[in-house]
Amino acid sequence: MSQTQACTPSGTLPATGSLPDCSGPATPFPGALFHLVPVSSNIKTGPIPVSTSTRETCPPSCPFYSRGCYAAGGPLGIHWRKVSGGTRGVSWAGFLAAVARLRPGQLWRHNQAGDLPGAGDSIDTEALAQLVQANRSKRGFTYTHKPCLGDSNQGTANRAAVRFANGHGFTINLSANSLGHADTLTALDAGPVVAVVPSDFPDRGVTPAGRRVVVCPAQRIPGMSCDRCRLCSLADRPFIVGFRPHGSGRKAVDSIARTNNPAA
Ligand code: SF4
Repeated sequence: MSQTQACTPSGTLPATGSLPDCSGPATPFPGALFHLVPVSSNIKTGPIPVSTSTRETCPPSCPFYSRGCYAAGGPLGIHWRKVSGGTRGVSWAGFLAAVARLRPGQLWRHNQAGDLPGAGDSIDTEALAQLVQANRSKRGFTYTHKPCLGDSNQGTANRAAVRFANGHGFTINLSANSLGHADTLTALDAGPVVAVVPSDFPDRGVTPAGRRVVVCPAQRIPGMSCDRCRLCSLADRPFIVGFRPHGSGRKAVDSIARTNNPAA
């Protein structure tokens, strides 16, 4: 029989084995709010539960942090500012309870805006373990721009946390800023990878290192949405999902996607 492992808030999480005991009252940011809509009206996701996290979770190292982030504009931007400003949403504990109440097998998207729990570039491993626990028997998936490269304590801990979640049923896609960056992130073997691609990238292509890339079906098939596609929920997906720049910041995103910097 496997033993329950201790939760390690500032350390690393095991890639395999039983879930850590993270039943304590940890909260990523006291007073911060998180939001879960049970049936999204977002046509890109389709009618599934979709969450939003306070902007405090976003890593300043993300190249789209201050220019090009698709979530900053339009109706989503208005919603996100309410969550981040503390006028819409619930506490972390309330959010976890809402996730735990989703029906078994439910596909849901974490973070149409925001990133994994943790301030800025760091991942709060205890809070993430709590979310993985709440997601048990559900099919949650999300994306992260938190830095996972390098030998620093932060890069090592972030990588381990992402690998842990992907090994325990909560899919975290590593978000690359170009196809060169996608090659580097894929080599980590911490989870599936998505990448922004230049606006003229074909429906199917390859990275500089020859890895397969498939452009998001919702960007090329009328009526397609995440609830039907589900590619981003597959932790063992053998290819990279590409996103062509969209939204008001698409020119800035397109320019970053063309840099092909393998390290960022
Ligand atoms: S690839 Fe599929 S699951 Fe991922 S964002 Fe596009 S439609 Fe949604």
